[in-house]
Amino acid sequence: IPAGEKTIFGHPRGLYILFFTEMWERFSYYGMRGLLILYLTQHFLFSDERSAVMYGAYTALVYVMTIIGGSLADRYLGQRKAVTYGAILLVMGHGLMAFEGSGSKEILTYQGQDYQITLEGRGGDADQIIIAETGTSKISFNDGATEMIIDNPAAVGLPVTIARAEYTTRVEQEELFVNILYLALALIIAGVGFLKANISTIVGALYGLGDTRRDSGFTIFYMGINLGSLLSSLTVGIIGIRYGWNWGFGLAGVGMLAGLLTFLVFQPWLEGRADPPSAEKLKEKFIGPINVEWACYLAGVGIIVFAMGTVMNAHLVPEWFVGILGVLVFLFLVGYAITKLAGEERDRMLAAIYFILAQIPFWALFEQAGSSLTLFTARFVDRNIFGWNVETPVFQALNAGFIVLFAPLFAWMWVALSKRKLEPSAPVKFAFGVFLAGLGFLSLVGGISASGAGAGLTAVYFIFLIYWIHTMGELMLSPVGLSQVTKLAPARAVGMSMGAWFLYSGLSNYLAGVIARTTGAETIGGQLTDVAAAKAGYAEVYTNVAYVAMGVGVVMLLISPIIK
Ligand code: GLN
Repeated sequence: IPAGEKTIFGHPRGLYILFFTEMWERFSYYGMRGLLILYLTQHFLFSDERSAVMYGAYTALVYVMTIIGGSLADRYLGQRKAVTYGAILLVMGHGLMAFEGSGSKEILTYQGQDYQITLEGRGGDADQIIIAETGTSKISFNDGATEMIIDNPAAVGLPVTIARAEYTTRVEQEELFVNILYLALALIIAGVGFLKANISTIVGALYGLGDTRRDSGFTIFYMGINLGSLLSSLTVGIIGIRYGWNWGFGLAGVGMLAGLLTFLVFQPWLEGRADPPSAEKLKEKFIGPINVEWACYLAGVGIIVFAMGTVMNAHLVPEWFVGILGVLVFLFLVGYAITKLAGEERDRMLAAIYFILAQIPFWALFEQAGSSLTLFTARFVDRNIFGWNVETPVFQALNAGFIVLFAPLFAWMWVALSKRKLEPSAPVKFAFGVFLAGLGFLSLVGGISASGAGAGLTAVYFIFLIYWIHTMGELMLSPVGLSQVTKLAPARAVGMSMGAWFLYSGLSNYLAGVIARTTGAETIGGQLTDVAAAKAGYAEVYTNVAYVAMGVGVVMLLISPIIK
């Protein structure tokens, strides 16, 4: 511990401001994210597919934009100002989410199959056309099956049988509130873009280069992240569903406001470690009356406009675009290391790039949690615990819960091991992280096989087991990765590198979506058509990804001395 440093529990006191600010930021982020897909499908009545694409674009952009926020902080703003600006945008974004309007109305529902009706004459507009094989009649349904309108007077009073009906649904959305939704999402994307990477960078700045408390400090910080996520999954989600969307989103906004205030009040504790690289530079004229500092803030407005357009038109963005983005950023990073750096600095940056990429297999498996693993849990797990039928989404809180429980143990363990010179190197920890992602799925596959070939349900403790193994892997990889990036990237490019870390984290989420789609089973009206085949499908995909990840983990272990 450097002389004169003010510490709390052995760590610089600045760590705890970052802990609480990030706790509230993640509280709002995960709380809002937990409601989002339901809000899109149930309130705005977007189709499942459109909602999934929007959700994917949103969660990817949130992390992609961190590379811009990080780079601006490195060059001009410094991390403290960037985090403050990001937090302000986030309060506005989450606040706007609370304006829900009256949502959308679906004008028609019709339950297919054979349907015997007697037509009654009614007036009114027939604005949907449901042509069934009824001869000449055009029938419109208004509000489900309760009211029917027929515009062919000749058929009135005649019983008809509809053998097969095709229908179209018209959804009426309030234009104003749909636009508010897009603007809110864009504000959050820009807000996270300015905040997330930079707040992690400040954690790194609290520790000197040789300080062995760094990994441990990041593990504590990581606990704050998950404490926020745990608290919000137990409050924002439940309140949003029980009392109304606006209350849920509003609570997320209030949480973020608490984060902003924490940061504003306690930032002197950072002792200038996150200040702009040059105060004069910030005041320099950029164009007209606008100085460099305000130009950075205006760049945030640019991100908002771009993000709003992209989320709105996410269904038009082709898949290969995401792959190309990943390759381009990789080339850019390597190019930066080779052309702008030399000697040891360059080697360190290349190691940072290794970590940035090595997280991909981990998140691609881990992030099945919200998608395919949730569907698997809903369909094939006996969720009865001591006579209590546990709702599927509740299982997702297991990850955050395990982190909060085990992070202190890891934080302590890294310090204790390093005192005995036994601490595994970061590349070794990473290799274990990726291996554990695979092992988690392999153990679940064990549970699936134990439930037999047919439609038998998997025992619930396998779900606990996979979440636990994955969480152990996450603690080996995610906080360690943050820590390494802050240590390995040259000081003037830490923010950008941290942005790149999250960017690939976002792209791995995308890859996770691609894997989740391959587990997709055939359904009709939400019901599986072949239960046993669907179950076997999950087992097959999970086995494959498990072996690939474990194999990659072993390779990473073998090359770890080189990286080290
Ligand atoms: N759960 C972590 C967080 O929210 C990790 C995010 C990530 O890197 N994908 O910070």
